[in-house]
Amino acid sequence: MKLHFLGAVDNVTGSMHIVESGGARVLRDCGLFQGPRKESRERNRSLPVDPGGLSAMVLSHAHIDHCGNIPTLVRNGYRGPIHATTATTDLCEIMLKDAAFIQEQDAAYLNQKTNRKGMAPVEPLYTVEDAEAAQKLMVGHRYHEGVSPAPGMEVTFHEAGHILGAALTNFDVVENGRRCRVGFAFDLGRYNLPLIRDPEVLDAVDVLVIESTYGDRLHDDARNAEEQLLEVVTRTLARQGKVLIPSFALERAQEIIYHLVSLVSAGRLPPVPTYVDSPMATAVSKLFGRHTAYLDEESLRLKRKIGDIMNPRWLTYVDSVEQSKRITASANPCIVISASGMCEHGRILHHLKHGIENPHNTVVIVGFQAAHTLGRRLVEGERKVRIFGDLFDRRAEVVVLNSFSAHADRNGLLDYVRQVGARNVFLVHGEPSQREALGEGLREQDGELNVVLPAPGDIVEFAWKNGRWAMGGG
Ligand SMILES: [Zn+2]
Repeated sequence: MKLHFLGAVDNVTGSMHIVESGGARVLRDCGLFQGPRKESRERNRSLPVDPGGLSAMVLSHAHIDHCGNIPTLVRNGYRGPIHATTATTDLCEIMLKDAAFIQEQDAAYLNQKTNRKGMAPVEPLYTVEDAEAAQKLMVGHRYHEGVSPAPGMEVTFHEAGHILGAALTNFDVVENGRRCRVGFAFDLGRYNLPLIRDPEVLDAVDVLVIESTYGDRLHDDARNAEEQLLEVVTRTLARQGKVLIPSFALERAQEIIYHLVSLVSAGRLPPVPTYVDSPMATAVSKLFGRHTAYLDEESLRLKRKIGDIMNPRWLTYVDSVEQSKRITASANPCIVISASGMCEHGRILHHLKHGIENPHNTVVIVGFQAAHTLGRRLVEGERKVRIFGDLFDRRAEVVVLNSFSAHADRNGLLDYVRQVGARNVFLVHGEPSQREALGEGLREQDGELNVVLPAPGDIVEFAWKNGRWAMGGG
């Protein structure tokens, strides 16, 4: 049995791993590398996998850094099945089409520029057609249902507590009559997130591959999110301001809606006009309404009380650009949830442009903000910010809520590894300092543990030796 560490090994983007046994290779995730433009183009184009040599693919969840390069795999000839939970396959339809559209737009923009210089046209990384072809290969499964992606291999999906449909995956490989279980725990979510169930502890794992995204950091308790949101919304409404929430369209937007619904239904917040102004967030919210089998007990209780959680009467999904413009122009107090989550593009920019100079308004930051984004500048308290090329005085209040995160923090990761109890632990999906910090913590926690920080491109072989699965050929 061999593990190939191909992507998101010493960083957090472009997740890609292969489990190999008896000549069969199964790819787990095929994420888009997101980084500087030139590097991203090169890395995403030249996949480190031969699509013809794959027996099957297994997909953990619908975040772009895990599924976003599947259309390239298909463009390069992959025609095998792509196994995922049913919710993931449905979410992918929204995510991949949108990603393809962006790729096509990007190429068109570059071609407009290069055309003038007489250079050869740029091809998009993939097209909407490629995304649709990828969608046709998806096979939906339930959690805990056994799937055989290749002879002698079985995969099961388990709750990740990360986003709707996200799965931790166990790969059971049988070699010489012995079973080796490889557990992939990324992306690993958190306990007590709204809407979705808590992560499950993978059982009887021999080799655990786990993320280290927040290997050196702690989050505020997820249960504090609702109180913090209530506080900031109440304060803003009291001064007749607007609450502007830049949000990721997938999961974070629905979490905010859930909290607002929960607060209004408990009589703690008046039914304030709330607008979801992002076509993608709207599409994803509809999917949450459909996939109630994935929701946790608390959400189902709330649903029994008020009906569709994603559709209260005081909430409007904004359709047209004209409707969006009317909201930006109006001075009435309201809540606006809009994308993109880092304020780099999308309709949130119009809301910020019209609202950022009003000291009655509040911008609520509920997600990670990468360096050099407008969102990060707001977090850092800059007084002047550039939007669509113009400078604005930032007079609106900016509040950062750190209780929102879909990833386990350092303590969550340490606890998880202890509970799984695997003897071999591979740390991936983290910047070098985060991986190292988590590695140190794990060695301190258990001196017997074999903790490995693989390098990108590493292929590690396992064999049965002295009564256990260990590294090195047999
Ligand atoms: Zn994720």
